[in-house]
Amino acid sequence: MIDNKFPGKDITSEDLKTKFPLCAKKNSNHKSIVNVGGVRIGDKKNVIIFAGPNMVESYSLMSSVAKKMLKNKLIFLRGGAFKPLTFPYRSKKYCETREEGLEFLKYVRKKYNCKVISEIMESKFLNKVDESIDIIQIGARNMQNYPFLVDVAKTKKPIMLKRHYGASLRDLLGAAEYILHAGNKKLILCERGITAPHTHSSTSRYLLDLTAVVALKELTHLPIISDPSHACFNSKWVHDLSLASLAAGSDGIMLEIHPDPKNAKVDNLQTINYRQFDKLIKELKKIAKVMKKNVI
Ligand code: PEP
Ligand code: MN
Repeated sequence: MIDNKFPGKDITSEDLKTKFPLCAKKNSNHKSIVNVGGVRIGDKKNVIIFAGPNMVESYSLMSSVAKKMLKNKLIFLRGGAFKPLTFPYRSKKYCETREEGLEFLKYVRKKYNCKVISEIMESKFLNKVDESIDIIQIGARNMQNYPFLVDVAKTKKPIMLKRHYGASLRDLLGAAEYILHAGNKKLILCERGITAPHTHSSTSRYLLDLTAVVALKELTHLPIISDPSHACFNSKWVHDLSLASLAAGSDGIMLEIHPDPKNAKVDNLQTINYRQFDKLIKELKKIAKVMKKNVI
């Protein structure tokens, strides 16, 4: 059936009824809100900021970031104790903190009364997340690991599903449908950049697909977060791409921040420092005010 194609180009209105009935919007006002301990993600009045280092390197790093967040009246920390690094050869510098990292998150969460989003990559660690993580992140590389998606869904915890950089919206919504079908409705989507044509390879690692943000808002009721840090791989561009994400209607923005990006263990090129973070949050708040939204 070649009717009425949506901007993703690969989803028909018939598909929405038969393949993505749980993801699809039922009417133009249909919008899901994922309530994470009182924080309403997807509420059109809110813009949620997830910020933190790429990797949960140490307790002191997470504690420093938590303080920085609280000063900006923000509460959602990010950081991976488990990292899908592109190569298996890891010098000491790149070593994941794994279960110990979850412990760091647990203490920071308790001490600063903040919330945490963090990636889990294997089902065997899902029973360890209750005290340390508020939202389980499923990374780009696991987006189509269907048995894992179902296992994560069964935890009943809120989930953020990142779009793989080579995935169409059809692929993404198919993966999202697995999670909803497994009975977990606390689902958030994340656009983190797609593989760019070679014309872009010298200027960015991926292309932040803001068209997808707009299209997903039309196709589905699920909240959608934008991750400019992973898309552009360039700390100097994160500011403007964050403002663009807000303007495009993202329900939130995920940012990589670190007190000393040059010495961040992973992804230091895309990571912004505290000064850049303060400036960005100040500007996001100004624009959000005009849009009658609160930055949380
Ligand atoms: C991350 O958020 O740290 C991450 C690894 O992202 P992605 O899965 O999008 O590469
Ligand atoms: Mn990263």
